Amino acid sequence: MSRVFSGIQPSGELHLGNYLGAIKNWVRLQGEYESFFCIVDYHAIITAYAPDDLRRRRRDMAVSLVAAGIDPARATLFVQSRVPEHTELAWIFNTVTPLGELERQTQFKDKASRQESVSAGLLNYPVLQAADILLYLAEHVPVGEDQVQHLELSRVVARRWNAAFATEEAPYFPEPKALLTPTRRVMGLDGQAKMSKSMGNTVGLLEEPDAIWAKLRPAVTDPARIRKTDPGTPEVCNIYHLHKAFSPPAVVDEVAVKCSTAAWGCIDCKKVLFEHMNAELTPIRRRAAEIRETPALLDDALARGAARAQEVARGTMAEVKTRMGLD
Ligand code: ATP
Ligand code: MG
Repeated sequence: MSRVFSGIQPSGELHLGNYLGAIKNWVRLQGEYESFFCIVDYHAIITAYAPDDLRRRRRDMAVSLVAAGIDPARATLFVQSRVPEHTELAWIFNTVTPLGELERQTQFKDKASRQESVSAGLLNYPVLQAADILLYLAEHVPVGEDQVQHLELSRVVARRWNAAFATEEAPYFPEPKALLTPTRRVMGLDGQAKMSKSMGNTVGLLEEPDAIWAKLRPAVTDPARIRKTDPGTPEVCNIYHLHKAFSPPAVVDEVAVKCSTAAWGCIDCKKVLFEHMNAELTPIRRRAAEIRETPALLDDALARGAARAQEVARGTMAEVKTRMGLD
């Protein structure tokens, strides 16, 4: 059975972009592949944070993931810092990663431009990510579109390391491939940028309906629809894309017609979306509340996950060290 690996940063609450772009795929894949899903706290410390917040967010992320459908009995769910082999392999990969490739990463340029002082950690983030994936010799990585470039870098790292310490005929590290969902890039409700924990433009997976509606109601739609009677173009509207993710196909078709003929105003359209979002999110919220009632169960699941992950990680590191003369 081939392996999948993916991670999510505990840098804030799990939002609809994460859910639609990645986590729904994790849930689907956990039955098909041997799956490793990781709460990547070493990535989340790259930007300034408070230690207590990190503790809380790491736990909230675990609750959200299990509530969204990750089953710790089927997938290995664990916290990155509990498996020190991640950082050990990252150092090794730093030595084979071309600096120019790191400087070219769009996410580095974006995030660096929003910060006064840029740490080496921000630049090296994709190297740690390559280590996260390759430690488990994972071939498939379910992620959102924003991670495709980083994954390309993981492939370069694998290739470079293989060139030095394996052979072309028998490479040691696979070159991992991205698995994308139909909603691979969810925009923030301001319509300005992708929904991101660090941008404060998110709708949380576990947010209460009132709070969700308060964000949805003023959300940006097709700018051509100034008056209710102005017809719109569904494809350019963020709300239409959310309909595609949450509403049944017949409703999506209806939305397209009612928008392009101005039969519905944007608020009508948002009300229908809200109803279908609630149908999917209410059971998730309920499960999250149940999971929080038995914290020891979650702790046990994460401890078992870390032990299982470390077993695989140690095997990889032993092979890597032997091949590199570090044994
Ligand atoms: P940060 O702003 O701290 O980078 P983030 O919201 O981008 O947080 P990550 O933890 O970096 O979340 O990413 C977790 C997963 O969610 C990744 O697979 C990423 O590709 C995916 N993802 C993040 N934002 C979106 C989005 N807006 N649409 C689709 N997928 C997304
Ligand atoms: Mg991100």
